[in-house]
Amino acid sequence: MIVIRGATTIPKDDKEEIRKAVAELLGQIANKNTLLKDEIVSIVFSSTSDIHSYYPAKAAREAGYEGCALFSSQEPDIEGGLPLCIRVMIFVEKNLDPRHVYLRGAKGLRKDVAQKINIAIDGPAGSGKSTVAKAIARDYKILYLDTGAMYRACALKALEEGADIDDERQVVDALRDLKLDIEYEDGVQHTLLDGADVSETIREPRVSMAASTVSKHASVRMRMAEKQREIASKMSCVLDGRDIGTFVLPDADFKFFLTASPEVRAKRRYDELTAKGYSVDFAELKEEIVKRDEQDANRALAPLKQAEDAVLVDTSEMTVEEVVAELKKRMQERI
Ligand code: C5P
Repeated sequence: MIVIRGATTIPKDDKEEIRKAVAELLGQIANKNTLLKDEIVSIVFSSTSDIHSYYPAKAAREAGYEGCALFSSQEPDIEGGLPLCIRVMIFVEKNLDPRHVYLRGAKGLRKDVAQKINIAIDGPAGSGKSTVAKAIARDYKILYLDTGAMYRACALKALEEGADIDDERQVVDALRDLKLDIEYEDGVQHTLLDGADVSETIREPRVSMAASTVSKHASVRMRMAEKQREIASKMSCVLDGRDIGTFVLPDADFKFFLTASPEVRAKRRYDELTAKGYSVDFAELKEEIVKRDEQDANRALAPLKQAEDAVLVDTSEMTVEEVVAELKKRMQERI
C-alpha cells in the first residue's frame, strides 16, 4: 500500500469552493501519479476548523470517487496554522513512487513537508514592494526582510559618524564597529543600530538619498548581501530590495519586479511621509526619487535591474490588494 499526500486551500468557506478545490486536488493527484480511480483504496481528508460548509469526502464522491472508502475529519485549531486548508491522504494499491501535490499556496505553508521558500521582490522606490512584501509574508506566515532598511541603517550610522558618504574609505571606517540587528516583534521588522531601535529615523528623507549613495560602495554591499543570504538560507522569507533576484539570491524560488510611473511612486511616498507628519515638497520628492533610481540603476555592482526570470508587474493602476493577489496567483500557478 502506498500513500499519496496533498493539500489545497479555498478562498472562503463555501460549498462550491470546497467542491471545486477537492475535484482539482484529486484530479491533479490522479494525473501526476497516473492513477486510475479503482486503484484507490481510500481517501482520508482533514480540513482546518474554519471549514464548515461541506464535507470534502462528499465533494470527492460527487467528483466520481465513489468506489473507495472516504472519510473527512476536522483538525484542531492550531494557532498560526494555514487557514482554510484541506489536506488529503490517498491510499493506493499500486507500486509507485508517490508524487505529492500541494496547490493554491498550500505547499509553502506546510512547514513539515515544504522546503524553505525565498521570494524576491525588487523594484524602484515607491513601486509598492514593501507593502506587498509585508502582506505576502503575513498571509504566508513567513518572514519579511526589508533589505533597504539595512542600507538605510548603514547610511544613518555613516551620517552620525560625520563621514563623507561619497568616500568609500570614510564609510568603511564609520561602519567598522557597526552593530546592525534585525529583530521581529509580532511579525514587524525592527532595525537596531548599536542596540537602539532606528526603524523610524531611517525613514527620514535625508537618510533615503544617503542610503542610495552608501549602497554604491562594494564593501558595504558585500557585507549586507552576505547578511541577507545568511537570513534567507535559514528560513522562508520575502525579501524586497533592488538586487535580490539578480545578485543576493539569483536562485530565489519566485522573483518579481514591480514598477510604477515616477508620478505615482512620488505620490505614494508623499502620502506616506505627510501621514507621518513630515512636511515635504512634492516636486522635490519626485526629483529625489528619480535621482535615486538613476543612481541605483547605474552603480557598478548589483544595480537596480529586473532579473531575466522575474515577473514584471506595473503597479501604477493597481491597488495593493490587486498586486498581492496577482503575485500570489503567479506563485500558486507554479507550486
Ligand atoms: O527600499 P528603500 O527605499 O528603503 O532603499 C533605500 C536605498 O537602499 C535604495 O535607494 C537603494 O540604493 C538601496 N538598496 C539597495 N539594495 C537593496 C535595497 C536597498 O541598494 N537590496
